Amino acid sequence: MTEPSIDHRRAELVGNLARVRARIADAAAAADREPGEITLIAVTKFFPASDVRHLADIGITDVGENRHQEAEAKAASCADLTSLCWHFIGGLQSNKAAAVARYADVVQSVDRAKLLPGLARGAAERNRTLGVMVQVSLDPADRGGTRPRSGVLPAETLRLADAVAAESDLRLLGVMAVAPLGEDPSPAFERLARVAEQVRAHHPGATAISAGMSGDLEAAIRFGATHVRVGSAILGNRPLSK
Ligand SMILES: *Cc1c(COP(=O)(O)O)cnc(C)c1O
Repeated sequence: MTEPSIDHRRAELVGNLARVRARIADAAAAADREPGEITLIAVTKFFPASDVRHLADIGITDVGENRHQEAEAKAASCADLTSLCWHFIGGLQSNKAAAVARYADVVQSVDRAKLLPGLARGAAERNRTLGVMVQVSLDPADRGGTRPRSGVLPAETLRLADAVAAESDLRLLGVMAVAPLGEDPSPAFERLARVAEQVRAHHPGATAISAGMSGDLEAAIRFGATHVRVGSAILGNRPLSK
C-alpha cells in the first residue's frame, strides 16, 4: 500500500507543475514562441530524492541543484533514472569542479576559466562530454567592481565562452544568469539576450539562454530564455532559503 502522505505530495507536485507549465505556455504565446522551445528545469535543492522521483514520473526531464554535496548524494540515489538531466547551477569551487562533472550533465554556473581544467577532467573520467553554460552577471553594481558577485561581466563573457569551446571534453551550450534582486528583471534579461547573441555569433551551437525562476519566468521568456529554472513554484517554499 502507498503512504497517504506520499500520494498527497505527489498530488501537490502535479498541481504545481501544471500551473508552472501553464505560465510557460502563456508567456510563450505572448512572446510568439513555441512552449516546446523552453526547457523547464525543476530546481530540487533542499528537497529529497523522493521528490525528484515524483517529478521524473510526472514528466520532468531536467533537474537543477546548487550545492555540491547535496547534489552528489541525490544524483547517486537517483542513478537509476538514467534519462534525467542534472544541471548544476550553484557557486562552484575549483577544487570541486571535477567531482561535479562526474554526476552533472550540465554545469550552468561557470564564471571563470580556472574551473575548466577540473570540469574537463571530471567529464573525461566519465567518458562523456559535459554541457557548459557561462554565467553572466547582470548586476549593474558589478560593473565597476573588482570581482563580480555572480557571473562573469558581460564584456568578458565571450572570452570565457571561447575558453570553454576550446576544451574538447566540454560543450559550450550558451549563457545563464540570475536577475538582480529587487529590480525589474526585464532590462537585465534584455542585456543577457544581447550577450547571448554575441556569443552565438562566434559559437553558432551555443543557443541556450538559461534565465527566469519562479518569480520572473515570464520576463525571461519574453527575452528569449530557452531554459527556466523553477524551484519554489513547483516544490513549495524551501525550508532555509539561500
Ligand atoms: C534556487 C535557484 C533557482 C530557483 O529559484 P526559485 O525562486 O525557487 O524558483 C533558480 N536559479 C538558481 C541559480 C537558484 O539557485
